[in-house]
Parts: sequence; structure tokens; C-alpha cells
Amino acid sequence: MTTEARDKCGVVGIFAPGEDVARLSYYALYALQHRGQESAGIAIADGQSVLVYKELGLVSQAFDETVLKSLQGHVAIGHTRYSTTGSSSWENAQPTYKSSPDGQIALAHNGNLVNPIELKKLLHEAGGDPTPRGARLASSSDTDLVASHIARATAGDLRLAILDVLPKLKGAYSFTILSEARLFGARDPHGFRPLSIGRLENGGWVLASETCALDLIGARFIRDVEPGELVTIDVNGLTSDRFAEIKPAACVFEHVYFARPDSTLMGQNVYATRYRMGQQLARESDVQAELVMPVPDSGVPAAQGYAEASGVTYGEGFVKNRYVGRTFIQPTQSMRQQGIRMKLNPLREVIAGKRVVVVDDSIVRGNTTRQIVTMLREAGAREVHMRISSPPIKWPCFYGIDMPDQDDLIAANMTVQEIQAHIGADSLAYLSFDGMVTSTQIPAEDFCTACFSSKYPVAIPEEQLRSKHVLEQPPSTERPRA
Ligand code: SF4
Repeated sequence: MTTEARDKCGVVGIFAPGEDVARLSYYALYALQHRGQESAGIAIADGQSVLVYKELGLVSQAFDETVLKSLQGHVAIGHTRYSTTGSSSWENAQPTYKSSPDGQIALAHNGNLVNPIELKKLLHEAGGDPTPRGARLASSSDTDLVASHIARATAGDLRLAILDVLPKLKGAYSFTILSEARLFGARDPHGFRPLSIGRLENGGWVLASETCALDLIGARFIRDVEPGELVTIDVNGLTSDRFAEIKPAACVFEHVYFARPDSTLMGQNVYATRYRMGQQLARESDVQAELVMPVPDSGVPAAQGYAEASGVTYGEGFVKNRYVGRTFIQPTQSMRQQGIRMKLNPLREVIAGKRVVVVDDSIVRGNTTRQIVTMLREAGAREVHMRISSPPIKWPCFYGIDMPDQDDLIAANMTVQEIQAHIGADSLAYLSFDGMVTSTQIPAEDFCTACFSSKYPVAIPEEQLRSKHVLEQPPSTERPRA
């Protein structure tokens, strides 16, 4: 349960004349709620104008029947957000709206750009902050910068304007963008974050961060938007433009933790991948035990795989309160500690007197894992063996996953043995790097693995290293910690 790292966002886009696209977007966002829980928004267009509705909170809190009925049109985009760049506020909620000489646009972003300072400078040089044409920075998010650049690019056509701007962006982005009558989807040349294309039965088009959103609204998966590709969807169908060469570096952590297990990433079902990671973990570091149990929910597939490969009985040792939000929503350490106890309760009858293997997907700060071990001992476990279905996380992410600074990543500051002592487990083992990658059944060279390997596929500028809130802070002379 990587409750100490968060994905930035989930995005959807729907082009479907004759359908209630606002309602379809709402349901699709529901399926992507795990990718962001701070705010939710939908932008809709009817051929004439663009309307954006966004609100802080969960999808179910942001929208009600009245709001959905008011969103009329045939093309929509939607967004669920957790902030990595820009603080949590209504202004930073998405979709972001701009008007330009080429029309109105709304944009939704999953990812994180590493050159916001450069982009801001370019915009200033172009006189774009502020302009009388709407290309004014309305928030502190990198998304607003991108929308401002597109609004400024007077290419005569929005598709050309987007194609003009995309090559200037560095870092991770999967965008859904709409104009009055068109839907666009774009992925950075590395394909850090996923973006899939699906079709509705009536021929309508759907873009979504994960295939689980396609399933929920009855759309059939067609293919992924390729890294470095812009797709444009209108009444004539889908057209594709390539704006950069593919340099594959998909986030391997989507497979380990972030994506929903019922999604398919790069042709691989996420549940099956995590099951194989658990099997491999058992092969690499089996231990005598009477029970294999997951940290729910994210540890379940790997724990099942571990149990199968080790031959040890699988059981649910925790009951999870499903009505408590992910503990990582709480901003402070003390609230986080409360959160885990609110969320998980050990089943004494299952655990007492047993040597238990506890399978989790990752350890970030280590505090949650320590509490889990303590709870299991209090519930009578004779021995607690932690097994982690990914390698130690030693470097922070700059491509759309909110991880603590390196100072707070426990594996960057302690050996495995020290971590074992810190969390109070009888043993601790991580899945090997090769074991993780092999389990995905995808070639290693297609992945970003920087948080495990320090091999950052896109160089991180100094100012970006200093702080994720780089746009909101005055320049600092402090050396980066990562
Ligand atoms: S650094 Fe880690 S979390 Fe970030 S994109 Fe790369 S693999 Fe994913």
C-alpha cells in the first residue's frame, strides 16, 4: 500500500454525437478516481462554445444530477486531480480553459513537466502573461502554462497550434483537449503516463488514462495513443499526427501500484503482472510461514501470486474499512498515522500464533509499514515477514508521481537490514529489479525505472529539482537533495 506516493491525475475525453457525453465522462472519471481525489472536472462543447465545471473533492462530491443535466454537448473531457505541481486549490483544478483567436479550448493533463520555468520565460517573451486574449496564467499549475502556450500559438487552426506547442514541452504528459467541436489526445514522446483509445457501440470515441474507464462505459479498447502522437477526433473520425520520435520510457510503477488491476497497460493486464511479481518474490525470498496475507487492496494480487508459488495458505489478515479515503489524502504525518488505523483492522482469529508473510507493493517512508507490523504483533502474530513486490525506492519521481524528497525515502537512507529493524519485522525482502521488470513481460528498455535505478530518461533542470512548487517560489540557492 504505497499510501505515501500519489499519482497526479486521470484524464478522459469523449466525442459522441447523440450521447450524454457529460454523464459518460462522469462514469469514466469514477473509474479513474484512484488517480486523483483532490478535485474533479468536466469540460463540454456543443459545436459553438466550451463550458467547464470543476470542483474540489471526489467525483461523487463534485457533480450531481443538476450539474450533469446542465452540461449539454457532444464532446467532453474530464479530469481527476492530485497535485504535484501547483498547490491544491480550485484555480488549479482541471480542465483548464482558455480562449484564443483560433477558438476556445479546455485541457486536462496527467503527468508533470520538468521545464515550467523555460515555458514561463517563453510565454513572457511572447508577451503572453498577461494578454488581452485569454493567454494569462490563471493558476500555478504547469497545465495552465501549456494551455496558455496553445492559446498564444496563432497557427490558424487549433490542431496546428497544439502541434506547434507539444515539441516545446519536456517531461511527462498525457493530455485530453477539446475545442468547440473537436477532441484531441496527446502523449509525450516517452509515454510516461498511459492514454488509451476506445470506441462506443454507436461509433463514438473515448480517450482514457486507463482501460478500466473504457470498460465502465461500455467502450471497446482500440489501441493506446502512441508516445509522441497527437490524435484529433471530429465528425470525420480520428486522424493521427506524429510530433516526435518514440523514446519509450513508460512508468514501471503504474504496473507495480498506480494503475487499477483490471486495467491493461501496454498489452498486459495489471492484475496478472502483479500476480507474477508475487510469484517471483516467493521464488527469490521464500520463508517458513503458515499464512500469506496482503496489505489490502494493492498488495492482493502479489500476495496471491506469492502464496501460489510458495504453497503457503493465503488469507485476509486485515479487514479494510472501504469508506475511508486513501490515507495519503491526509496532509500531515500525524493524520497519516491515524489514517492507517482507521482504515485497517487486523483479524486476530486469522493471525494469532502464526508466522505471517505480509505482501505489500512498496515502501516509501516506512511509517505505514511499521504500523502494519506493530498491529500484526498486537494481534498475536508469532513472526512477521514483510515481502515487497518492487525493489527499494531510492530516488524521487519528477514525471507525475508525487513522492517525498530523497531525504524522506527510507530506502535512500537505510540498508534493507536497517529498514527491517526500523519497521520491526522478523525479515524483510524486496523483489529484485530484474524480477520486477521480467514480471511485466515487457522489455526493460521500454520503461522508466528512475525511482529504482536513478536513470532519469528526461534530464531534470536544477530549478525543478529544488521543489515541486517551483512555479510558486522565488529562486533558491539551495542545492537539490535528489
Ligand atoms: S521515476 Fe518511478 S514513479 Fe516516476 S515515472 Fe519513473 S518509474 Fe514511474
